[in-house]
Amino acid sequence: MKLVVTGLSKSFGAVRAVDDVGFTLEGGQMLALIGPNGAGKSTCFQCINGQLRPDAGRIEFDGRDLARLGVAARARLGLGRTFQIAQVAASLSVGQHVALALAARDPGVWHGIRGRGAGVDPAELRAWLERFDLEPLAGRLCGELPYPELKRVELASALALRPRVLLMDEPTAGMTRADRRGLMAIVKQEAAGGLAVLFTEHSMDVVFGFADKVLVLVRGRVIADGAPAQIAADPAVRAAYLGTAAAGEPA
Ligand code: ADP
Ligand code: MG
Repeated sequence: MKLVVTGLSKSFGAVRAVDDVGFTLEGGQMLALIGPNGAGKSTCFQCINGQLRPDAGRIEFDGRDLARLGVAARARLGLGRTFQIAQVAASLSVGQHVALALAARDPGVWHGIRGRGAGVDPAELRAWLERFDLEPLAGRLCGELPYPELKRVELASALALRPRVLLMDEPTAGMTRADRRGLMAIVKQEAAGGLAVLFTEHSMDVVFGFADKVLVLVRGRVIADGAPAQIAADPAVRAAYLGTAAAGEPA
């Protein structure tokens, strides 16, 4: 798997939200997109997943230009994502939510679903829930879950679709250090199995603990791109972002 982004640009009126951004992401890699609020990280994501049409640039997935494909077609090719605010259906139980995601992998199975996840092998569902430490919560309604557990349901559901690239916009926002490390450790395991991961993140322990490569955006432009150690030592990055990044995040 290879995702190649070149010359990506997107403006909103006079604001150049994304300005000539390029990078390559391969299977097994975790790439962190970092930068201050308003740097253009979410806009980049939305251009890649098909929610926004870029003004310029090319997004290639295994050599295929994605320009003409919408969100659903990109998802079918293997572009998966989680959301900045955990989006899970509040009225479903944890088991139902994950079962629906497992079933959705195979479109034919939808015909057999009657809201209870029929059509999914119960052993497969149990194993999948266990892997995310969700098995004890299977009967609980998603709407009643504490935030870190909700984020795990979201991740379990996104990964159940077996994406080849996972886009995560601030996956650990609002989580404690222990909870965010737990969540990212699962993602890292998936990457070890070949998943490519592109994520934005404000917690530097997550960026430097999990990313293989880091891309730093400031006002829409890439100001640095490299291995985590190289980024951490980059004076321009420290001046533009890292000096202030750790302030105000939960311990
Ligand atoms: P980040 O995710 O890095 O915080 P965003 O991509 O959300 O940054 O925003 C980049 C810039 O684009 C900001 O100046 C923001 O105000 C602007 N922007 C983002 N989305 C829109 C939109 N839908 N309409 C107008 N301006 C937008
Ligand atoms: Mg954002």
